[in-house]
Amino acid sequence: MPIINHVASLHEEITGWRRDLHENPELLYDVHRTAAMVADKLKAFGCDEVVTGVGRTGVVGVIRGKSGKSGKVIGLRADMDALPIEEITGLPYASKVKGKMHACGHDGHTAMLLGAAKYLAESRNFDGTAVVIFQPAEEGGAGGKAMVDDGMMDRWGIQEVYGMHNAPGMPVGTFATRKGALLAASDFFSIDIEGKGSHAAEPHKGVDTLVVGANILLALQTIVARNLDPLKSGVVTVGAFNGGHANNVIPQHVKMLGTVRTLLPEVRDLLEKRVIETAQGIAAAYGAVAKVDYRRSYPVTVNHGRETDFAVSVAAEIAGRDKVEPDVTPIMGGEDFSFMLEARPGNMI
Ligand code: MN
Repeated sequence: MPIINHVASLHEEITGWRRDLHENPELLYDVHRTAAMVADKLKAFGCDEVVTGVGRTGVVGVIRGKSGKSGKVIGLRADMDALPIEEITGLPYASKVKGKMHACGHDGHTAMLLGAAKYLAESRNFDGTAVVIFQPAEEGGAGGKAMVDDGMMDRWGIQEVYGMHNAPGMPVGTFATRKGALLAASDFFSIDIEGKGSHAAEPHKGVDTLVVGANILLALQTIVARNLDPLKSGVVTVGAFNGGHANNVIPQHVKMLGTVRTLLPEVRDLLEKRVIETAQGIAAAYGAVAKVDYRRSYPVTVNHGRETDFAVSVAAEIAGRDKVEPDVTPIMGGEDFSFMLEARPGNMI
């Protein structure tokens, strides 16, 4: 198994890249240092083409195999951005940037794909063309969409796309994926409740937005429990509820922020409709007004059948058949690799 042995020999170097990235996390599209490091390495590896600034700060590298017979062009994707989280691990390679941390492991994804690119560029021991895709802004900025919208798929004639995400909850050396929906559509809403401020001792002269908000919060929890088919999946979570500042004042205004996660288009439609109706209806019942701003964000991450079989067979070849779960339970988190999987067939594992 010369291929595996050679890649394994890169382990220490790849770990070094990951730790360097981990020490220097960057957010969303501001991944300038990371993108420059990626581009420098891809050039040093001898990629046939290295293009920066795709989808604002994304990087694309092209590696042509020895045999171009099939003309097949395969995209391999990693994400580069970190999260606005303070790292307190105390690790020797902990984040050097206050308030920023590679807490979703995209440092690992970038290092892994760089390792693959180095091997592929050195060996050229494959048919067709490999396009390595390093995207910005996975964490809420839709950097994957930005690269697709920038014409990446057509520009390099990419026919299939593959991506990986680390999963610290799984044992080392194992893989999991599934055909169809792997990760959820993630939508976001804000609810602005306008009532009437008053003195706490004279509630009858006001419209208490905290009471209205509390009732909306509880009623939103009945959408999944009472409106959704119990055999289908959905999540409605309110993550922020802000209003008021004093013991003795009924606030005029309350703001709530939340997210909706779904795996099916009809469930996505239903939950959107019910969140808006519930907030507006309950507010009206109390004499308040709720303005609901509902925004659809990442679509469902849908794995394609043939490409998933292929990814499973490759993973099994490397890790062993018993180390690959080909039909894992979907996760209600979201992932903007979904935009690339909408543009081309492929798999996330
Ligand atoms: Mn992630």
